[in-house]
Amino acid sequence: MKIKMLDLTREYRNSRKEYIDAIERVFDNGSFILGSHVESFENAMSSYIGSSACIGVGNGTDALRLALIASGIKPGDEVITTPFTFIATAETIVQSGAVPVFADIDGHTLNIDPQAIEQKITEKTSAILPVHLYGNPADMDPIMKTAEEHGLIVIEDCAQSIGASYKGRNTGSIGNCGTFSFFPTKNLGCPGDGGAVTTSDTHIENMLRILRQHGAVKKYTHHYEGFNSRLDAIHAEILNVKIKNINEKNKRRQEIAQKYKELIEGPVRYQQTADKSSHVYHQFTVITPLRDELQAYLKSEGIGTAIHYPIPLHKQKIFSSYANEDYPNAQRAASEVLSLPIYPELRDDEVNYIAEKINDFFSRH
Ligand SMILES: *Cc1c(COP(=O)(O)O)cnc(C)c1O
Repeated sequence: MKIKMLDLTREYRNSRKEYIDAIERVFDNGSFILGSHVESFENAMSSYIGSSACIGVGNGTDALRLALIASGIKPGDEVITTPFTFIATAETIVQSGAVPVFADIDGHTLNIDPQAIEQKITEKTSAILPVHLYGNPADMDPIMKTAEEHGLIVIEDCAQSIGASYKGRNTGSIGNCGTFSFFPTKNLGCPGDGGAVTTSDTHIENMLRILRQHGAVKKYTHHYEGFNSRLDAIHAEILNVKIKNINEKNKRRQEIAQKYKELIEGPVRYQQTADKSSHVYHQFTVITPLRDELQAYLKSEGIGTAIHYPIPLHKQKIFSSYANEDYPNAQRAASEVLSLPIYPELRDDEVNYIAEKINDFFSRH
């Protein structure tokens, strides 16, 4: 059997007609940049997340960059984040003029450790940027408490966590803003680049609407240095279709994760979930010191896997000034995590096959 890490064509084949109809609606309307399709998706998204507003932008990276700037993060500020994430999380802190400060992850949840955050706070700290890694909510209560005590902004990187909840609240509705990516591979993906910011702060909302349109407070009236970063109408209209069954899709991911855990007998660890929170499994990850050997074996059996992420950010060349800092939990995770195929269209017989091959591997190691 051959099983790809991800096969987006399966989902498209099931929903082709609905997507083609959505594209036709945009052409019939002739409104391609912002306008009614984008507004209607922004409304659907904010009510789904439970925030008062959603602002569609060009991609998840711009969502972070614009959210940082709109929240008032300025040159010289320090923003505390995790070293175990996709580069965009820290790259955009630099682009806002601020300095990323890393706090190690918890070795069990793989999310930023609230106690490590405390230790990194200085007079210059202006924000905390937790990532809900793989769709697993970060432990938000202590993070929000620390933020309140020190007067800090909290921006949630929800690129991987749409629909995940923490103590009854959706990720993206807990901090001052939540940033989302609709990159095709994400749990809610569009056919290209897309992103959004959710917020219930009207000042941040207004700034985001201004920043995504060249800093214009009204047409040709520029009060700020802005950007050209908007969610495309075609993408918004397709997302309008897809957001209707995101819960169903996330449920199938949870079902697959459960199956993996039941079937895999090998001595692997799994990411732990914070109290009263639900994980939406953007990735399903096994943790084992035999990671590289397991990945090579699965490849030889036709099974695609991926490593998110092989190099923690403080070991990236672009962050060479951080190279001597020590984040042992992030370093260990980077050498032990392996993401298995998990997408709603993955079939049960394929999950069985993957688990069987993992068990074969461990029976010989
Ligand atoms: C995908 C992702 C982003 C960036 O989103 P893009 O839409 O690709 O720009 C940011 N942060 C995390 C954690 C991501 O997984």
